[in-house]
Amino acid sequence: MKLTDNVHLVGGGPFSGFGLTSAPDSHVYLVDGGSEIALIDCGLGLSDSFTELEANIAAAGFDPRDISTVFVTHHHADHAGGVHLAGERLGARIAISADSAHVIEAADEKASGLAAARDAGVFPSEAKLTPTLVDDRLADGDELDVGDTRIRFIATPGHCAGHGAYLLTGVGHDALFAGDAVFWAGRILLQAVPDCDLQASHESISRLAALDFEAFFPGHGAVTVRGGDMHPRMAQAEIDKLGIPKGIL
Ligand SMILES: [Zn+2]
Repeated sequence: MKLTDNVHLVGGGPFSGFGLTSAPDSHVYLVDGGSEIALIDCGLGLSDSFTELEANIAAAGFDPRDISTVFVTHHHADHAGGVHLAGERLGARIAISADSAHVIEAADEKASGLAAARDAGVFPSEAKLTPTLVDDRLADGDELDVGDTRIRFIATPGHCAGHGAYLLTGVGHDALFAGDAVFWAGRILLQAVPDCDLQASHESISRLAALDFEAFFPGHGAVTVRGGDMHPRMAQAEIDKLGIPKGIL
């Protein structure tokens, strides 16, 4: 599903996405940098759903094996579970914050939220993590080129430790891939997990609300192709009133 001149939506489950893949996957975006393509997040990594993801990438006119890098917003399994398949099947590099790399490399099902979500019946019983080497450990402000575009990592902890957003610049409208830091209409997602931090979430929203961009591409729910910087600013408006932005669920 083409969203802008250089961003396609190629994955996302039926509950919090657009049903492009069948598992409880986060949105998966493809960035087309011309000579190079990359993904933002890669879903839960169930084999059937990953095959659907590959088919969607092909239907959009790209060879999945040409994906150079998967930029992961955070270590939760619905975003990062597929990294081992992205590495094995596609030969892609894996980029994630230095603070989250250990969760990916150790396949830590507790820290990734997978064990709890599986026990709660949110994720299917066959959902598992496989240890995967991280190629690029990102720190705040790091920038990587994807063809003619540039992706900047913005540390945005709060939803979980090590969370990061990605700002796409260079060609066409600037776009923010917000992960689960903030959603449509300034909604947020706080969960009863040890590394969720309300104050850090507020500070991260303030960082995102200070950015100017057109397209707003969060990890779940509605996407916006123009005027998207209103969404973190709506969350900031609640914080400015000493309130807590409303939850997405
Ligand atoms: Zn998520």
